[in-house]
Amino acid sequence: MGIERIREQVFNEEVEKGLTDAAQKLYGKSLADLDDAQTYNCVLQVTKGLTASTHRISGDKKIYYISAEFLIGKLLANNLINLGIYDKVKEVLAKYGKNIADIEDAECEPSLGNGGLGRLAACFLDSIATLGLCGDGIGLNYHFGLFKQVFEDRLQKAKPDKWLSDHSWLHKTDIGFDVCFGDRKVRSVLYDIDVIGYENGVNRLHLFDIDTVDESIVKKGISFDKEDIEKNLTLFLYPDDSDEAGNLLRIYQQYFMVSNAAQLILKELHDQQIDLHQMYKHAVIQINDTHPTMVIPELIRILTEEKAMSMDEAIDIVSKTCAYTNHTILAEALEKWPLEYLEKVVPQLIPIIRELDKRVRAKYKDKKVQIIDKEKRVHMAHIDIHYGFSVNGVAALHTEILKETELNCFYKIYPEKFNNKTNGITFRRWLMSCDPELATLITSLIGGSWKKDAGKLEKLMDFVEDESAVAKIMTVKNTKKAQLCDYIKAREGVELDPYSIFDIQIKRMHEYKRQQMNALYIIHKYLEIKVGKKPTRPMTFIFGAKAAPAYVIAQDVIHLILCLQEIINNDPDVKDHMKVVMVENYNVTYAEKLIPACDISEQISLASKEASGTGNMKFMLNGAVTLGTMDGANVEIHDLVGDDNIYVFGKDSDTVIDLYAKSAYVSKDYYKKSKVIKEAVDFITDKKVLKVGHKENLERLQKELINKDWFMTLLDLEEYIAVKDKAFADYEKRGAWGKKMLVNIAKAGFFSSDRTIAQYNEDIWKL
Ligand SMILES: *Cc1c(COP(=O)(O)O)cnc(C)c1O
Repeated sequence: MGIERIREQVFNEEVEKGLTDAAQKLYGKSLADLDDAQTYNCVLQVTKGLTASTHRISGDKKIYYISAEFLIGKLLANNLINLGIYDKVKEVLAKYGKNIADIEDAECEPSLGNGGLGRLAACFLDSIATLGLCGDGIGLNYHFGLFKQVFEDRLQKAKPDKWLSDHSWLHKTDIGFDVCFGDRKVRSVLYDIDVIGYENGVNRLHLFDIDTVDESIVKKGISFDKEDIEKNLTLFLYPDDSDEAGNLLRIYQQYFMVSNAAQLILKELHDQQIDLHQMYKHAVIQINDTHPTMVIPELIRILTEEKAMSMDEAIDIVSKTCAYTNHTILAEALEKWPLEYLEKVVPQLIPIIRELDKRVRAKYKDKKVQIIDKEKRVHMAHIDIHYGFSVNGVAALHTEILKETELNCFYKIYPEKFNNKTNGITFRRWLMSCDPELATLITSLIGGSWKKDAGKLEKLMDFVEDESAVAKIMTVKNTKKAQLCDYIKAREGVELDPYSIFDIQIKRMHEYKRQQMNALYIIHKYLEIKVGKKPTRPMTFIFGAKAAPAYVIAQDVIHLILCLQEIINNDPDVKDHMKVVMVENYNVTYAEKLIPACDISEQISLASKEASGTGNMKFMLNGAVTLGTMDGANVEIHDLVGDDNIYVFGKDSDTVIDLYAKSAYVSKDYYKKSKVIKEAVDFITDKKVLKVGHKENLERLQKELINKDWFMTLLDLEEYIAVKDKAFADYEKRGAWGKKMLVNIAKAGFFSSDRTIAQYNEDIWKL
């Protein structure tokens, strides 16, 4: 019996006594008499205790994953699964009259991320620990997270997301550092969250904060004094940057994160008595997108100013320690800080950044690779590429576009630095925890080896002609759809038909992701039904998305969808044939309910714009069939499942890149040329919509689509309608559809983040 098994058995024996003792100690009551929140707290304390007696992962070299976001989701179920005691806790709770799902609901979801990038960081921490690699995450402890979304008057309103509570997974440590800015000095305090590997040891997520943060300065919505740094530094992730103070605050946050990271890393190396000249042999820093870029000049600054290293030595060592992951080619998302802003917040870095730029200019004539451009803006990604040893994209297509187009001038200089690491997801959360019914069924068919080796899911292919196995997969889907109907009824007050087809698009609201194209399809179907063209089976369209508060058109798309929801769900001619629901405050917890219940996974970004996507992988793993463009990891999904098990449409990335290069896309031409497109776009300001919506928002959106449409919605709309109609029709061939589901699950093993992390380690980290 392996050590992990022995530990699991001991833990199992301790669970009941631990829980009943905790109930007495914390509340002076029997476990049976506690409410859900109290019970949650007891399970939390017992789990933390068992985690403390689990071994810390150690090693001669350590990966530090620095990220502005860690979208970790609720931790209870995942931690219990990874400790191997989920079933035991469930059994004990049941014995005392409690349903574990209700106890899980009592946990607040940590709001430490925005979307895919932050969720990826969370999946990676899970896989790093699961593979037994020594590695910690480093980020910030935002008190109100991104924001909490509420709908008022069919508009998104942002509120503080107060997720921190007295009972949480955070441990306050006695570690803290001084962080000096140009105009002030603050003292940090470090909070840790344990990251438990699946049947393995424990790493940590380090979240830095300051004690002086004052939650009470937040007034109406999420506005606050952006200049009161001591009070606002860790209030929100991505504070509004539409003015100078907001930009400066983001720089304060970024420097606070990396100064703490640098000091922590150097402290850990010092504690192990490692000569800093050998730093790169014991530490590797993965820079997740450009937000942590300042760690490079900061480390160089410390090594030269405080550790008596020469500039040449310091640059050489730091460059061998840092590696960069690029997550986007959207120009507006690549950070370029005005030098003047950096001078205000972090004057101590300016000589270093100028030196780094000077060395680049001395070596390369191409202006496109300079760090400081002629408008005196500092290109953060350029620092990472010149002064890191690895640059990776996050899906095969994305990495190719980086090499051939966006970062081609860098690729020519440093071909050896560029590599691809196709994203992945942790199957613990995105299958075992969110769809235990499917996980159990899979294990009954092929055994449990897939839990440690996701590639083993391929064994499901043996059952592709087995009608009873396929029928069982479809039965699980129906169960999850029924569960989702209950959840949505309770939360949104909308009644859905579990017999209908569930078509789901959940992701950040952004024009490139083209929720507006899905909305136009819905309008098109609505208009068809109104003239008597009824679908064979009712259709349910589900959305979940937050829009950045300063992103006007994204807000308008939310408004349109909420208006359509109102009109369609209340139209007696239509409501029995289609329903629309946009769920409020989409987050990880909601994703875990929605994804297992999905029939059709909407992955319809404009080709070349979605770096990878990870939502697409979660849906596939849970037996949804993708309707998507040849973008990001959809390309790899298509390669794996083949033409028959995915619905592909739209112009490919070469065509789109060419259209941009030649400025050749004119949306108005598409609008004028096609009756179907024109009718759908015109409906946005139909009197029915204006009756429930706001003219200003709806007209602005309509004009944008006709006159600009930067992300080319109308380019692909007709083909989207045709292919989506085909998918809905194919759904009626139930046996064949069930096979598509099975093939998708069987081929999803490649998208385990365990695979991704093994590749990071093999090619980049070398732990
Ligand atoms: C996976 C996930 C995302 C990323 O979704 P994409 O479709 O890849 O953009 C965003 N938000 C949450 C809550 C997620 O779980």
